[in-house]
Amino acid sequence: MQRSTKIVATLGPACSEREVLRKMVLAGVNVVRMNFSHGTAEDHLARAELVREVAREAELTVGIMCDLQGPKIRVGKFAEGRITLATGDRFVLDATCTLGNQERVGLDYPDLPQDVRAGDILLLDDGRIKIAVERVIGTEIHTVVRDGGVLSNNKGINREGGGLTAPALTAKDMEDIRTAARMKADFLAVSFPKSGADMYMARELMRASGGRSLLIAKIERAEAIGALEGILDASDGIMVARGDLAVEVGDATVPALQKRMIRLAREKNKLTITATQMMESMIESPVPTRAEVSDVANAVLDGTDAVMLSAETAAGKYPVQTVEAMSRVCIEAEKSADLTLDREFLNRVFTRVDQSIAMGALFTTFHLKVKCIAALTQSGSTALWISRLNCGVPIYALTPEVGTRYRLSLFRDVYPLMIQYQGTDREALLLEAEDRLKSHGAVVDGDIIVLTYGEPIGKSGGTNTLKIVKVGESRV
Ligand code: PEP
Repeated sequence: MQRSTKIVATLGPACSEREVLRKMVLAGVNVVRMNFSHGTAEDHLARAELVREVAREAELTVGIMCDLQGPKIRVGKFAEGRITLATGDRFVLDATCTLGNQERVGLDYPDLPQDVRAGDILLLDDGRIKIAVERVIGTEIHTVVRDGGVLSNNKGINREGGGLTAPALTAKDMEDIRTAARMKADFLAVSFPKSGADMYMARELMRASGGRSLLIAKIERAEAIGALEGILDASDGIMVARGDLAVEVGDATVPALQKRMIRLAREKNKLTITATQMMESMIESPVPTRAEVSDVANAVLDGTDAVMLSAETAAGKYPVQTVEAMSRVCIEAEKSADLTLDREFLNRVFTRVDQSIAMGALFTTFHLKVKCIAALTQSGSTALWISRLNCGVPIYALTPEVGTRYRLSLFRDVYPLMIQYQGTDREALLLEAEDRLKSHGAVVDGDIIVLTYGEPIGKSGGTNTLKIVKVGESRV
């Protein structure tokens, strides 16, 4: 059974062997994520090469996403690697400290003392440790521990409620954007953007480096929620980055935010990835918990394009089984996903010819007994528009563009297929499209399909034609 929702898997030591990666790809990974918080540029470039080789051998489309580290604010290192803080202890975050101990630790963002004030609550290590600011003296933040725990080197710092001002793109991010462009990454995920302006800046830097990635904004700061519309307008998609987001806005707020973000993104014709702790227990266990199964299924029912695995595949004991389990849960949930066309269709606003054809294809599909939609597309936008509402059939995007093929790997319900046709003869092109769908096993003679394409054939330009075809009929 074909899966509509895409799976993003983070690469790391648990899947650096070719055979593990091959099994993960065969189990259904659609996009791999390179986490630029770890590893060198050379590591990432070598991994990308391996992914491409493995996918080519398996004859599957696997996209590559580079995820920038961003300005995550972190404590420095400890002389002993870690300390244990007890509730009630006094502890100092000191911008000038080079090696930490039981009383104090350094900061990788020296301006933090200017950003916080007495009464602020700081959350360390994804909220596992809570400290309250008592006073700020020069470069030192004096705190008292509210919830203790083990604190080790380089753990993250968030402020409850958000509002820390570190700029969105660091010098390391800028260098990593160049690496992503060298890698020809299909997606670039920007960490901690606060506004649309941060995303415009990332796009400019990417373009200046020659990159053509789709830009994904990770929504993980409290401020990003207020700026969501502007961030969406400046991006190709968003990641519901529940790890950091939950620390800033409170974990109980995140489920409703996830639904709102996915709905808004789809309305604006943008992509969505739901991320973090989706199959967390599978880092150690070969089966997911009931709660994790429900979480993945709910993201599918919310309409997410993709669900993401982090440590489960990067550092877990069961990377292949995790992908298999996630795939199985997605397929089952998709069977009960709402067909959204009737309710939402009439409210869509569009003025473009190509977008009108996409909407026409959706409407036709919803009312005729159609086997699939086949969108002949250069850029992939027709497939994107059609996929923003659930019409219940697969959308095959037939493209001659290699870059488009890989960027489509993240779109829900969309299956990219390459088509080589170069001429100007419409009938020959449509027959080639039919043959490609038949050889892929998507259709057989007698099936009704909806085709979208641009005329005149051979002249690049937008989609302007919709055709309903009975497969095999034009050859009779
Ligand atoms: C998150 O915070 O949920 C997330 C996906 O970001 P990262 O894994 O980069 O911290």
